[in-house]
This record gives sequence, C-alpha cells and structure tokens, in this order.
Amino acid sequence: MNSPSIVRTNTAELYDAHVMKNYARAAVTLVRGRGTLVWDDAGNRYLDFTSGIAVSALGHCHPHWVAAVQRQAAELIHVSNLFRNPNQGELARRLVGYAGPGRVFFCNSGAEADEGMIKLARLHGVKKAGGEEGRCFKIVGAKNAFHGRMFGGMSATPQEKIQKGFRPLVPGFAFGELNNLESFAALVDDQTAAILVETIQGESGINPCTPEFLRGLRRLCDERNLLFLLDEVQCGLGRTGKFYAFEHAGVRPDVIAMAKGLGGGMPIGAVWAGEKAAELFQPGSHGTTFGGTPLACAAALATLDVIEREQLLAHVTQTSVVWHEALCRLAADFSRHIVAVRGRGFLVGVQMKDDTASWLAALRERGLLAVGSGNNVIRLLPPLIATTDELAKSVEIFRATLVAKA
Ligand SMILES: *Cc1c(COP(=O)(O)O)cnc(C)c1O
Repeated sequence: MNSPSIVRTNTAELYDAHVMKNYARAAVTLVRGRGTLVWDDAGNRYLDFTSGIAVSALGHCHPHWVAAVQRQAAELIHVSNLFRNPNQGELARRLVGYAGPGRVFFCNSGAEADEGMIKLARLHGVKKAGGEEGRCFKIVGAKNAFHGRMFGGMSATPQEKIQKGFRPLVPGFAFGELNNLESFAALVDDQTAAILVETIQGESGINPCTPEFLRGLRRLCDERNLLFLLDEVQCGLGRTGKFYAFEHAGVRPDVIAMAKGLGGGMPIGAVWAGEKAAELFQPGSHGTTFGGTPLACAAALATLDVIEREQLLAHVTQTSVVWHEALCRLAADFSRHIVAVRGRGFLVGVQMKDDTASWLAALRERGLLAVGSGNNVIRLLPPLIATTDELAKSVEIFRATLVAKA
C-alpha cells in the first residue's frame, strides 16, 4: 500500500506527536524479524543482539513458538484467574521442575514479578512477628540494583536517575555493597524480613554476584529467618547457560522473580516460591487480571520446549566460550577504548572508556543492535539460538567499528 519511506516518515511523526517521551529512542523503525535478524522499514538488516532486552530467547518467529501461539489463539486466549486453565497448571509444573518444590504465581512483567516478591517478603515479616503488621518489614538490597519501575521495585532500586521525582518511596529498604557479605549482615536487624539481589545485575553494567556471596546470603537468611529473594528477570531462563543463574553457585533462594525470556516474546512474568513462602499468598492476598492466560502460558511452554529440545543451555555454555575469548581479544587489542568484558553465557557487558550512545549508533550502522547499560557498558544479549557464526559476526562488526573510530 504505502512505500516503505512513507511508512517510515509516518511512524516517526506519529511517535513525535502521540507517544510519551520516556525513552531516548534510536531513529530506527523495526518491522520484521527472523531468527537472530531484524529488518527496519528501509530494508536494512541487523543482527539483533538485544533480543528485545533479553526477551526473545528463541530469536524472532521461531516456527514451534509461532505454531503454538497461533493454535492457542484460535482455541482460547484469555480466561480469568477465577477459573483454571490447563496451560497455567502445566507451566507451573514445568517451572517447579526447574526451581524445586514450591508454587508459582503468574503475572505479566518483571516489575510485577518483583512486586509479588516484595509482597511475599512483607507477609513473611508479619508471620515472623507473630501476626503483627508493621514490625518486621525491611528488605536489604544491593547498591546499583534494578528491580523495575513500580513503587516497590523502584524503592529497591537505589539509583537517582530512576527514583528522581517519585519520592516519597516505599519505606524499609536498605542497601549493602554487592559481593560484600558483611555490609549486608550489618544492615539486618529484628525488623528485617528479606534479602533481595539480582544474581547478575543487568541494568547497572553486568555485575555478577560471586558464588561465595550468594552462598553467604543463603546462610545469613537461614540464620536470621529471612526470605532470600533473587531477581532473575534478566539473567534467568537460560541466558547464562543454566536455567537460573544462581545454579552456577549451587544455592537455592526462597523466591525467584522471572519474566523477560520466559514467554519468548509474549509478556509473562512469574514468581516461584519454595516451601518457606509458597503458602503465604491466600485467596485475596494478591492477583492480576492478565496473569497466566492460556495464550501467554502457551508461548512460555513453547519457549521451554525449544530450550529443552534444541538443548539451548548446553548450546549457550559451549558457544559462549569462544565468543568470550574473541571479545576479550578485542578488549586487549583496543584497550584505549575498552575497559573490561564481563558476564556469563549470552549476558555480556563490554565496558567502554566513554559514553556508549555513539558506540551503539556506530555498531547499528554496521548492522549490529546492542543495548546500553549503566557505567558506559555495551550489553550484548544474543538470542539463545544464536549460532557460532553469528556470535563471530558480532565480534567482527565490533572490531570494524573500533578500527573505524581509531
Ligand atoms: C527488566 C528488569 C526488571 C523489570 O522488568 P519489566 O518487565 O521491564 O517490568 C526487573 N528486574 C530486572 C533484574 C530486570 O532486568
């Protein structure tokens, strides 16, 4: 109908006129995706190493996922949580299989999963205080954390750029130094109900918790009867080569928040709670209209099917070794621009000496989409299906971009 250039002009104008300005958007309109590739409305092709920020785990339009969603859309899309639906039951079973004995609550996003987790912490505190409200409600989190944009999660996100303008925040949050167990232990008192960290901090520059730190937090929570809450919204669902990133440390939390990669592109979040917290929600204590619809759960089930059938955890573990080596070589060759390479599996941060905006634009011009993260970090989040060749291609483009800038 319209020529591509007319559509492009139109979309930019529509955004300028009608879409809220809460994002500093790249001047690109994406219209189509297949596997690891996306196309813009001018016909330019990109290697998509954003995966929609760790969402499109199977890349774009994986045939098994598309067939499952099409089938479910023609069968039953939405029913209220006042009724059962088979897909939600089956998805809960599958997630309990990965996380361990417990129960799952379904929602629609990472922020909502974090809110659910924070509410479980409050209920645990009430239980700890013998049923009295307001006595035990504090949560110890980490500096530089990110737990979403709603009031609970935002209050657990001690970053000026995120909290500015929205105070007063939810009370009761204190923040220790990541990977410093003593600094967390020093903040725990009789009013503390839980400890909350991201297993790998995603938004503030890819900062992993060390295994010793995670094991220490587990011990601290056991000793002081605290819930151990892990936000795996970004690092979970296979991104590090294990289903959950905490598996690398051999610990198990009491509660897990997940979302991003879970639906393979469909909005769905989930909170898993182990024995210590699985019974805290009772009828009326929490809910959401859209959580765990037949359609969203069908997408998540299809995503898990592909992760399992195509052995994507092993794939990420194996292929990321050579990719990381190549990125580290790049960092060594261009040490005047690159400070460090961090991360695990397909969750990688390349810390630059200067601001990332111009680097991201230059990478894009050469056909690689990446995303910024705090502290001058370029985040590379390939879909879990990315091939060895595609990973190598990303390094090639990165190298060409650095050479051009030199
Ligand atoms: C993205 C993210 C969130 C928020 O998820 P939304 O789906 O954007 O609400 C929360 N925690 C972590 C660790 C995240 O990376």
